[in-house]
Amino acid sequence: MPSHDVLIIGAGLAGQRAALAAADAGATVAIMSKVHPVRSHSVAAAGGINAALKPEDTWESHAFDTVKGSDYLGDQDAIEIMAREAPNEIIHLEHIGVTFHRNDRGELGTRAFGGASQARTYYVADITGQAILHVLYEQLMKYSTTVDRFEEWFTTSLITDESGSCVGCIARDIRTGQMEIFRAKNVILASGGAGQAWKPTTNGLICTGDGISQAYRLGAPLMDMEMVQYHPTTLVENGFLITEGARGEGAHLLNGDGDRFMEKYAPNKLELASRDVVSRAEQTEINEGRGAGPDGVGIYLDVTVVPKKRTLEALREIVNIGKDFAGTDITKDPILIRPGQHYIMGGVKTDAWGATPVEGLYAAGEVACVSVHGGNRLGANSLLDTLIFGRRAGEHAAQRAASMSMPAGKLGETELKRDVAQIDEIINRPKTGRRVSAIKDELGTMMNQNVAVFRDEAGLQKAHEIVHRLKEEAATAWIDDRGTVFNQDVLGAIELGYLLDTAEATVLSAIERKESRGAHTRMDFPDRNDDEWLKHINVTRNGGDEAAVSYSPVTITKWQPEERKY
Ligand SMILES: Cc1cc2nc3c(=O)[nH]c(=O)nc-3n(C[C@H](O)[C@H](O)[C@H](O)COP(=O)(O)OP(=O)(O)OC[C@H]3O[C@@H](n4cnc5c(N)ncnc54)[C@H](O)[C@@H]3O)c2cc1C
Repeated sequence: MPSHDVLIIGAGLAGQRAALAAADAGATVAIMSKVHPVRSHSVAAAGGINAALKPEDTWESHAFDTVKGSDYLGDQDAIEIMAREAPNEIIHLEHIGVTFHRNDRGELGTRAFGGASQARTYYVADITGQAILHVLYEQLMKYSTTVDRFEEWFTTSLITDESGSCVGCIARDIRTGQMEIFRAKNVILASGGAGQAWKPTTNGLICTGDGISQAYRLGAPLMDMEMVQYHPTTLVENGFLITEGARGEGAHLLNGDGDRFMEKYAPNKLELASRDVVSRAEQTEINEGRGAGPDGVGIYLDVTVVPKKRTLEALREIVNIGKDFAGTDITKDPILIRPGQHYIMGGVKTDAWGATPVEGLYAAGEVACVSVHGGNRLGANSLLDTLIFGRRAGEHAAQRAASMSMPAGKLGETELKRDVAQIDEIINRPKTGRRVSAIKDELGTMMNQNVAVFRDEAGLQKAHEIVHRLKEEAATAWIDDRGTVFNQDVLGAIELGYLLDTAEATVLSAIERKESRGAHTRMDFPDRNDDEWLKHINVTRNGGDEAAVSYSPVTITKWQPEERKY
């Protein structure tokens, strides 16, 4: 049975950064990923990563922009840590080999991003996530004696000891179907987001909320789950992302009448207001009949105003995406976009060291809610979040491991038997119920109708009922593949369960929050209401099936809530 000081589930940026930090602190580490690590969704991150590194910029300004962007729901102690530690993290990345863009003077160059009062986004063309992920993976190679990599292993459950501490996981080797118990002094969840609960989404097929659900099933609280980011520029046809870097380089948004409508909604920041503000503006234009394109369901993103040479250099991937997936040459014509599901601000509740209320369990990256993004994440703050809190979780877990012995006894045997039996049961289901893929499709389309940019009680209650029905249907949903080797079908059935848990927590929290804040706009409660709702919503499922809602305070250090204008 593999035993390690620190077991990390997920090998995107958060997981790999945590692994490097834990190994540097002297811990033995296992890092597990259901896909090859460099195929984690972090590889798709395009636009960049924020840090107040220029002499004229300050960490306080970065922190304030983040607090304001969060619509005052972000915890300011954690935001301060992130903004303070950002510059050193960028320099560290540059030193280990990330080829950040440099300006004509040879200095690290920046681009402007939404909701920021300075251009403080560092980038590698529009492949920033890929560039960082590959460099971290190279670094991991150096630690071959202390870091064991379990690539294409799928975690099915977390395991606990008699006292309720997390002491490892159960996982399946995807290549062979073999199931195994992994024992660890500490577990760090770094398993990413859950965008696949919506359709369409910018997120990869692997973003299925596994860690969120696994922690939830263990009794860990999920926080800020109602806060779901719709990115302002996703392709109308399929939800592919066109990076905010396009607007950062100067692209305009135009409605069907050709008007630069952001002048009306955010006269100062225009296209570079916060994402929630821009998505709401676009959706309002579309809903009020001023949409663009054949059915009026889109908005034009006009990149032709950016010099062509610059577009070809700094936005080359979206030039390809435009051609390949929308048939549009963005250097010549405006491209049709609309708001689309992109990111979840909520996740497993942690402190600023990544520790969850479950002893021995940490979380970092998109799976976690520290909460630095509150009601709305600023573009280019997520890569930063993964690295800062991935590192801190790795350091803290290594430290905790140093003062304890390896959990012993018959740990995980019950969970192993249960998970093996569950997989057998799924594989042998009669083809009488619905297909897994049909349920997933219905879930995604339904969430995109009812739990999107604009919400109301009726839509959310409907979503609640549908999620419950889909949960029942999922219990008998069938698959085709009955084999053991690379049986992705059976993993899809397990992932559907994770998605439904995530959707349930999201819908419950959205029903609970009776105000509009950040990305959560309730048509029936259109105003922000600090008197009653300046607090986090937590959802827990302590062992049972029924979810319970509770609240926790927002930490305010320097910045009292103010009206939010861009
Ligand atoms: C298209 C796109 C563009 C983006 N651009 C930017 C940007 O420019 N700037 C920015 O700041 N943010 C951006 N974001 C957001 C940011 O990329 C993500 O929030 C961040 O990369 C998430 O990193 P992570 O390490 O938490 O998770 P991920 O990179 O998603 O990694 C999750 C890991 O967990 C593993 N895993 C999951 N479930 C299991 C399981 N059951 N068993 C084993 N392993 C499992 C996966 O294999 C993977 O290794 C973008 C997001 C998208 C979708």
